Amino acid sequence: MILETAHGALQCPAFLPDGTRGVVRALDATDVANCGVEAMMVNALHLSSHPGTTVVKQMGGIHSFMGWDKPVMSDSGGYQVFSLIAENPKSGSISKKGFVYRLGNGGKKQTLTPEKCIQKQFHVGADVMFCLDHCTHPNAGVEEQKLSVKHTIAWAKQCRDEFDRRQDRNETKLFGVVQGGMDFDLRQQCVEQLVEIGFDGYGFGGWPISDDGALVEAVAWVAELLPKDLPKHALGIGKPENVVRAFHLGYDTFDCTIPTRDARHKRLCIFNDAPDRVNYDSDFYRYVYIDDERYARDAEPVDPTCDCLCCKHYSRSYLHHLFDIRDTLAFRLATIHNLRFYVRMMAQLSAISCEALQKDMAEKRPLGG
Ligand SMILES: [Zn+2]
Repeated sequence: MILETAHGALQCPAFLPDGTRGVVRALDATDVANCGVEAMMVNALHLSSHPGTTVVKQMGGIHSFMGWDKPVMSDSGGYQVFSLIAENPKSGSISKKGFVYRLGNGGKKQTLTPEKCIQKQFHVGADVMFCLDHCTHPNAGVEEQKLSVKHTIAWAKQCRDEFDRRQDRNETKLFGVVQGGMDFDLRQQCVEQLVEIGFDGYGFGGWPISDDGALVEAVAWVAELLPKDLPKHALGIGKPENVVRAFHLGYDTFDCTIPTRDARHKRLCIFNDAPDRVNYDSDFYRYVYIDDERYARDAEPVDPTCDCLCCKHYSRSYLHHLFDIRDTLAFRLATIHNLRFYVRMMAQLSAISCEALQKDMAEKRPLGG
């Protein structure tokens, strides 16, 4: 699957690092590109609080603002407001109109309606925008799940209308987000009504991970229910084995804070063998906890099979030392390594899907053809 955008064609499957506030923490856009990353995810709500989406617009949009000329997706911020309210019910409320919320202590009361959400994303100038959705906690009762689907569908229609009113939408794409918790009928209802409104692609919404760390069944249902020929985005699915599983289920694009956050917490992913030799359905990687004393005198690179800036030039010992003295270079090198791991993993998954396609075509070829 290829996702065409005004900033180039995105070859899928693709993993998008989260540059929530217009930056992948500790890296500049050149670093990100040098890892082989082809697209980034930003968050319209976070950008609206700092520096303000009108500032981003005035600076020529997010691509020129952060020096990144490849595709950018922007999250609506619905999940962030939901999390804020779930953590502290006094910080906001949800109604059929959208969200009312306060960011931080003593923050100004703000509203996030479907229309505003689209307007903010146009200020940002993302290539792929997401509709505002009403997320729920996985343990929420059936009435709350029903309400979330009702809101999500109504808001998706409002987002679609606001999007279609824009003269400057050009090649921008709008994705709907599927809610419905762990209720198959609600997920189905949500998919059917979103498809009726019509979007360029769809995202899996809601909490994707069960208590034991595996994907919830709803991730598979949604992929199965959605149109085969349109792109599917797995919001917040980021552990390597879960990315692999979601890819097998039919998801094309992924974003998550896991690789970059793990890197800053000294947790690095390494392949158990060369990336084209490991079995992606089994234990194909492990973690290096670089602050472990055993690495203090280890002259090996973090991952001997890796070609990133960190692994090509520095030892585990040096990275261990940088974390030890709390130098910011530690964050940069560790983040570069983890992003490169994800890019190499996605390249292998892409090769697997090409092979499967070729096999499929060969099997369908008529006899003697
Ligand atoms: Zn590396």
